[in-house]
Amino acid sequence: MNVAALDERIFELVSAHRSELEQLVRQAVDTELERLIEAEFARRGNGSSETVGPTTKVCRDCGRTLPASGFEKHRHVCRECRIRQNREREQRRQAEPDAELPRPRDHGD
Ligand SMILES: [Zn+2]
Repeated sequence: MNVAALDERIFELVSAHRSELEQLVRQAVDTELERLIEAEFARRGNGSSETVGPTTKVCRDCGRTLPASGFEKHRHVCRECRIRQNREREQRRQAEPDAELPRPRDHGD
């Protein structure tokens, strides 16, 4: 199989599964972004007084007590639940594609 044929085959496969791949990519990006954000906040310290406090928090969603590192700052839902919520929201949006589409703005004339 030459390279052009292989490229074509890959293109076909990607096209056939585009929506699933997009979702996977989105989830991977979400997860990685949250990691980056956490690292950035950790690097900045983000206000010395706020870092003093309990080192564990209770998730409002799953109710588990987790180390503060399992949460983003000022969040009361743990990272895992947030990722799950994002995923569920994404699935709902795909189930009703018209629900949250922004309407194109009408500028009149
Ligand atoms: Zn949770």
